[in-house]
Amino acid sequence: FQWWDHVRIAEKDPIVRVKEAFRADPFPNKINLGVGTYRDDEGKPFVLQSVRDAEAKIKECKFEELSSSAVSSKFVLESVKLAYGNDSHVVREGLFAGVPALSGTGACRLFAELQRNFYPDSQIYLPNPTWSNHHNIWRQAGIPVKMFRYYNADTKGLDFSALMDDVKNAPDGSFFLLHPCAHNPTGVDPTEEQWREISYEFKEKNHFPFFDMSYQGLASGDQNKDAQALQIFFEDGHLVGCAQSFAKIMSLYGHKVGCLSVLCADKEQSAAMKSQLEMISLAMHSNLPMHGLLLVTMILHDPDMKALWRKELKDMANRIQAMRSTLRQSLENLDCSLNWEHITKQVGMFSLLGLSPDQVKQLEKDFHIYMTPDGRISMAGVTKSNVEYVANAIYQVST
Ligand code: PMP
Repeated sequence: FQWWDHVRIAEKDPIVRVKEAFRADPFPNKINLGVGTYRDDEGKPFVLQSVRDAEAKIKECKFEELSSSAVSSKFVLESVKLAYGNDSHVVREGLFAGVPALSGTGACRLFAELQRNFYPDSQIYLPNPTWSNHHNIWRQAGIPVKMFRYYNADTKGLDFSALMDDVKNAPDGSFFLLHPCAHNPTGVDPTEEQWREISYEFKEKNHFPFFDMSYQGLASGDQNKDAQALQIFFEDGHLVGCAQSFAKIMSLYGHKVGCLSVLCADKEQSAAMKSQLEMISLAMHSNLPMHGLLLVTMILHDPDMKALWRKELKDMANRIQAMRSTLRQSLENLDCSLNWEHITKQVGMFSLLGLSPDQVKQLEKDFHIYMTPDGRISMAGVTKSNVEYVANAIYQVST
């Protein structure tokens, strides 16, 4: 008898597969459009000045004397303010419960645990398609995954009527995961009017909206605008759940800083919810590493640092938008009969180009350009110096 004889190699997540294939390619000018980390126009990782300033300030304070729970509470409050607004009713009345999390992934996982603890027979509806790890996270937490229709491959936009049908046809009181802005992988978001309709239908059906917000500010450059879906649901009286990640919006990837918050009906409910979230978090990781939490809290709490950060975030969003326009223009210049409008209609870090898995393979083989098999590219990997090469390669494989 051998204990682990039945353990087989796990199936690789598509994003991990792209990373490995890229690393193995010896070609010097290979381009990785697969991984969703922000890069500057030279293709380099980007450390924000606001983060450097916060780092310098942290050096001055006596780390060992800080209590983890004080830092956590401050961090959660600042995160919730960012999502719902400084003066929002939620914040003023304390109608939320939250805990720090290991970035967006950890926040989703904590929510899945909460779901399993209090709604053990529930399932989660994920958009089709969605970030591939959503499937892994809920599966690992033992929650069955269902999908609702989202993307229309013909229009390369939202399949709104199918989405509404699936919302209507799901059993009453279902959990739904929604991307409030910069949907990953499609870059396709509902309009304000469509969000209102979705929120209305959720009320009719008594569904629970869980928002995974990893890109607040990276879609439009305006953080309030990017959180408008949350706002709409909140105004309609939904008790929204929200995962926030500071990975992309502060370029803090490896620090893994995130927050899970849940809106509550009254103060007693938020006290109960907070204690339960803390219990789940305690069992999963006791306290979280404090450095990243301090960094984020400092930036969000200090008006000057926050203003600088907002400007830097806007610059990132602008660069992404500029690359969308240039890529579309370069493709249309090559052949004006092809329509690449979706590249500028889609928003945020990602774009689904509409390429087939074979075309994606050809881009790897012939042009050393890497992306996930669904044809998703990270616009952050496109730069002024590689955009013509990328456009030409996409054109070659599409015609
Ligand atoms: N949710 C979505 C929609 C994402 O795109 C990502 C990052 N790719 C995450 C969650 C996970 O974020 P983090 O890196 O903060 O764990």
